[in-house]
Amino acid sequence: MLPLRFNFSFYPTARLTRPRRLASVNGMIPRIILVVAGLLLSSMTFFVAAADAKPVRALLITGGCCHNYPFQAQQLTNALAKLTPVEWTIVMEGKGTQAEISLYDRPDWAKGFDVVVHNECFANTTNQAYIRKITSAHRAGTPAVVIHCAMHTYRATAIDDWREFLGVTSRRHDHQGKYPVKLVAADHVILNGLVSSWVTPMDELYVIEKLWPNATALATSLSEQDGKTYPVAWVNQYGKARVFGTTFGHSDDAWRDENFLKLVARGTLWAAGRLEK
Ligand SMILES: [Zn+2]
Repeated sequence: MLPLRFNFSFYPTARLTRPRRLASVNGMIPRIILVVAGLLLSSMTFFVAAADAKPVRALLITGGCCHNYPFQAQQLTNALAKLTPVEWTIVMEGKGTQAEISLYDRPDWAKGFDVVVHNECFANTTNQAYIRKITSAHRAGTPAVVIHCAMHTYRATAIDDWREFLGVTSRRHDHQGKYPVKLVAADHVILNGLVSSWVTPMDELYVIEKLWPNATALATSLSEQDGKTYPVAWVNQYGKARVFGTTFGHSDDAWRDENFLKLVARGTLWAAGRLEK
């Protein structure tokens, strides 16, 4: 029988050398403990890994306005665990639409991670130096996954660094609805094994003003409001880093949808350089 292996490493316990500073962030520790409890229970089913498999080291940055982040973290980690062992570090921090995550104060904050998943929602954070602490690490080569409200994070700032990193510029979304999804790059490895089209649960269609030159759409949906087709999943090259993005992921039902979960899980593995077929 294969060994049961837990690959969780939760911030700030194992990885960080300055836990006292981090513990001072209001409300962060209880939130993380809450997530740990939920994840450990739910992950027991899936963390059966070959003894010699090298886990993907993934950092999830999540929190902020408007969404059920503990549930989303649970669904994301479970979806990845079905594909490969992952050692997660989860930073769930910040409330409302404005926050600066203390992790980024570390110059080497991205060091040691195969992929960073951004699922945070801070539209009104505008500090340019702060934003460039994040994008510079990715430009130097740390792969990333960007989900839903990450596309509206730092929306109010003047600089385009974050938007270029994402691969899309978006500032608003259409009404909630059930949107047909059409794959438009069927030969891309991320889409291998996915159905060619499906309809989302209740979700938000983000209006994409610009697809940046290094980005390629993988899937699109049609706006019921303006009749235009917008990318809803894409890949991007930002400096030396691979980036996978999707604008879906608003509701709990979206995070229960097998098509969405498979897309995000495969996109995460691809960004990390671990998706071979
Ligand atoms: Zn949303």
